[in-house]
Amino acid sequence: MTSCFSPDYRTARKLILQKTAAAGDWTHEAFKHPVSGRDGEPVYTDVFWKGPKDATRVLTISSGIHGVEGFCGSAAQCQFIEDAPPLAEDTAILLIHAVNPYGFSHLRRVNENNVDLNRNFIDFDAGLPQNEKYRELYDLLNPDELPPEGADTIIARVEELRASMEALDFMKAVTGGQYEFPDGIQFGGREPAWSRRTMEKIWDSYLSHAAIVVQIDVHTGLGPSGLGLLMMAADDEEPHKALTAEWFGDMFVTPRPHSASDTILGGYMNAGMENHLGARTWVIPMTLEYGTEPAKAVLGMLIEDNWLTHHGDVESERGRDIRQRLLRVFYPDDKAWKDAVLTRARDVFDRALAGLQSLSPEKRYPQ
Ligand SMILES: [Zn+2]
Repeated sequence: MTSCFSPDYRTARKLILQKTAAAGDWTHEAFKHPVSGRDGEPVYTDVFWKGPKDATRVLTISSGIHGVEGFCGSAAQCQFIEDAPPLAEDTAILLIHAVNPYGFSHLRRVNENNVDLNRNFIDFDAGLPQNEKYRELYDLLNPDELPPEGADTIIARVEELRASMEALDFMKAVTGGQYEFPDGIQFGGREPAWSRRTMEKIWDSYLSHAAIVVQIDVHTGLGPSGLGLLMMAADDEEPHKALTAEWFGDMFVTPRPHSASDTILGGYMNAGMENHLGARTWVIPMTLEYGTEPAKAVLGMLIEDNWLTHHGDVESERGRDIRQRLLRVFYPDDKAWKDAVLTRARDVFDRALAGLQSLSPEKRYPQ
């Protein structure tokens, strides 16, 4: 089943189109991105639907919001097309392939404007969130010149900071997102990006009948290698915190943001989906994160890639080397890793579908 893994965006798209066409019971719609792919080819966010159009229970699985991380989610979706269990009545599956097709094709995590799309789903009318600590770290994280050996000395300094700060403060400062520096890592944008607007269109047109949505957004680059960690933001009293623990066992659950300072570490697509669909739809929003390499190696590659984009030459030997190493930090060329990814994906998706099919809207507000 490792044949579900592709070497590039174009192959990944072709494969999922072939698999859904061969299965015969999926509808397809393509949303063309305004900017071309790496070889000048058009790139798309593709949407696949299986089941009754007016189903009130929908399992949604999205891949590639962080472009280059899309290889993993694409393979997991591809496998699910082949071996998803039969659907119960009033249930449908919605697959969204390549939320950020530009980044998938160009081997970047961000979009064509350097935007981390999973920080872009904020309320821009409410004013931009401030990340003061990031401002202090801007020069360190976004150097004009990169030493020949890469980001090692920067990462050593970042690790010193990690040791001297509260864990949550460190996360907010370095990875929480920032809205001030368009050429910096973790930039969340200044307005809703194409991918966000496209996702909102997709939710409007496909989920208008949905009463319950179980959403799984697939990522790589966080956690122990090969492990698929399920994560969710939920408060204790929300019924899906206990329900998902029944379905999957222990998950990594963080409280929802409740104050302005919590807005940093926000802007996630899953939260955007909940806000967009509103109170009439019960969304159970999860992230499936597959570990690859240690966090400092991943951050080091983001720093190198961002330096390359703004100060280097992508087509130089060094540029190609950085992009290749970035690819491998989010998409290891390792059969055991790929096997572990697909085994875990099958289990998670099957349990999610079974869990969804056991729900009715009344369970949202238990007596
Ligand atoms: Zn990600």
